[in-house]
Amino acid sequence: MKEIRPGIWFVEGENRGRYPFAHSLFIDGDESLLIDTGVGPALDSLVPRTRQVVLSHFHRDHVARNHLFTEVKFALHRADAPGVESVEGFYRFSGLSQLNMEAYCKMISQVRFMPTRIDRYLEDGDLIDTGRRTVQVLHLPGHTPGHCGYLVEEYGFVFTTDIDLTAFGPWYGNPASDLELFRASIKKLRALKPELIATGHSPPLARSIDSKLAAYAEVLERRDQKILNALEAKPLTLEQLTDKKFIYKKHNGQEVLRFFEEQMVRKHLESLAGSKMVAKTDAGFYTVLH
Ligand SMILES: [Zn+2]
Repeated sequence: MKEIRPGIWFVEGENRGRYPFAHSLFIDGDESLLIDTGVGPALDSLVPRTRQVVLSHFHRDHVARNHLFTEVKFALHRADAPGVESVEGFYRFSGLSQLNMEAYCKMISQVRFMPTRIDRYLEDGDLIDTGRRTVQVLHLPGHTPGHCGYLVEEYGFVFTTDIDLTAFGPWYGNPASDLELFRASIKKLRALKPELIATGHSPPLARSIDSKLAAYAEVLERRDQKILNALEAKPLTLEQLTDKKFIYKKHNGQEVLRFFEEQMVRKHLESLAGSKMVAKTDAGFYTVLH
C-alpha cells in the first residue's frame, strides 16, 4: 500500500493491476472505506480494517474478493447492481451468455461468479463518510451503465477506476456499455481538472493529467477513423470489420475477445450512423456517406 495523500492509500493489484486483477483504494477513518476488491490475495490483510466496501462497477476484476468481507456493508451505483446481485444479471450485462457453450464455460471458470448483496445504491453526487473524510460519488457511465469514480475534493483527487488511461484505451465491450456515454464521462472528468488521479489498471498520476485524458479520448477518434478508412475502400459487414482486429490487434483464437471486439465495433458503427457518416444497406453492409 502506498499513501498517496494523507489517509488515502493506493492498494496495488497483483501483476501491476492487469486483468484479472485491479488496483483498489483504501481510505482511513472510523468508517474506513475500501473501493473495489480485485487486488488479489494481498487484499486479505485489509479485511479486519475495512468498515465499508464501495464498488466502482460490476466487472469481476473489481469485485473478485467481495466474499471475504462478510461483516461490512456494500455500496454500488444503482445501474450496475444487477451485475453483481445475480448470475442472471451478470450474464445479461456482460453479454457472455451470447457466446457458445465452450467459450462460456471457459469464461465462467475465469470469472467464478458469486453474488454480492448491495446495501446501498449510489447515485451521482452521493457522499460517503469515512469518519475523517468525505468521498463523493462521480457517475462516469459508458464502460458500464453504473461505472463510478470517487472524488476526494480536498485533495482534488479522483479514483477514476476503469477510465484507466492504459495504452489500450477505453473499453466498452459489453452489451451494457455505451460509447457516447464513455466520451461524455471523459469530458466530465477533464472539466473537473483533477490534481491527482488513480485508476483501476495504471499507476497514480499527478502530472499532465489533462493531456493524458485527451490522449485516452483520442483513441476513440482513431478507432472511428480506422473503420471509416476501411469502409472508404469498400463496404463491409460488422463481421468483416470485426475480423480486421482494429481494437484488439489479436484475438488469439479466443471467442470472447472477438465478441468484445464485435461489441465495440458495433457501437462505433451506431455512433457513426447517428452522425450520418455511415449507413447500413439492407444486405448488412456499411458504407461511407459523403
Ligand atoms: Zn471494468
